[in-house]
Amino acid sequence: MMAQSRKIGLVGLPYDANSSFMPGPRLAPARIREALHSTSWNLTTERGVDLGACGWTDHGDLRLEEMTATDARDAIEAKIAEIIDRGGSVMALGGDHSVSFPSIKAHAERYPGLNVLHLDAHPDLYHSLLDNPLSHASPFARAMETGLVKRLVQVGIRTLNAHQTAQAEKFGVEIVTMADFGADTRIAFDGPVYLSLDLDVLDPAFAPGVSHFEPGGLSSREVIRIIHGFKGKLVGADVVELNPYRDPIGMTAAVAGKMVKELMGRMTEDGALQATAAAGLPETGRNQA
Ligand code: MN
Ligand code: MN
Repeated sequence: MMAQSRKIGLVGLPYDANSSFMPGPRLAPARIREALHSTSWNLTTERGVDLGACGWTDHGDLRLEEMTATDARDAIEAKIAEIIDRGGSVMALGGDHSVSFPSIKAHAERYPGLNVLHLDAHPDLYHSLLDNPLSHASPFARAMETGLVKRLVQVGIRTLNAHQTAQAEKFGVEIVTMADFGADTRIAFDGPVYLSLDLDVLDPAFAPGVSHFEPGGLSSREVIRIIHGFKGKLVGADVVELNPYRDPIGMTAAVAGKMVKELMGRMTEDGALQATAAAGLPETGRNQA
């Protein structure tokens, strides 16, 4: 049977009650959309995919603000599952990093042998932080506990402590620390890949609009090279941890928008993978820019 292309489904996950240090990321989806639709640039990716011509479906923002952490987790998982089951490839806009656990779980249950590529200054492997197992510092511990993730590869890490080193060993996490990252770093997977981009993987010089400044990070170019260059099929992604309170001129929102563009382009290039029968999505949300 001929492989059918999956349509990209954009969804905003405005939740930051699981942030340990400061609020703000709940305001991010609107800022990223604004950057994405800005007339200051066009919608053709660096590799020549015209997202304006492809179109995507914008599912809007989930109403998560008043929810408890467990209700928000369940609502996110249900929405992501629905988008995939209707034939979409998910591009999620966080939110703090806690939104990635339910998104990864929904993907892992639908894409057997799912790999996760996680770009972050932090490994986010805490068993629990501040008595919160759904903390934005814990999503990858929860994801690995499902037993459904084939490989978790983390890149850009520069905050490993003893507890998280032990957690990484327990779960078999493969870590490319920032100190080890270089031009010769190769990232390769067999099969479907979910990419989770925490904007604080970038050096604060490139992306100052985040809650946790961690100097010594990746450049914008290095992140783009990773998005374009890893081996495997990108089936879903999220961009998280933009904090608009720390982004008064929208500079980091533009970085987020740029990465969303390149991720959607990569998903379009990899779009032949079919996990479930595509029911088709309504032709709404087509970008006119
Ligand atoms: Mn993170
Ligand atoms: Mn981080």
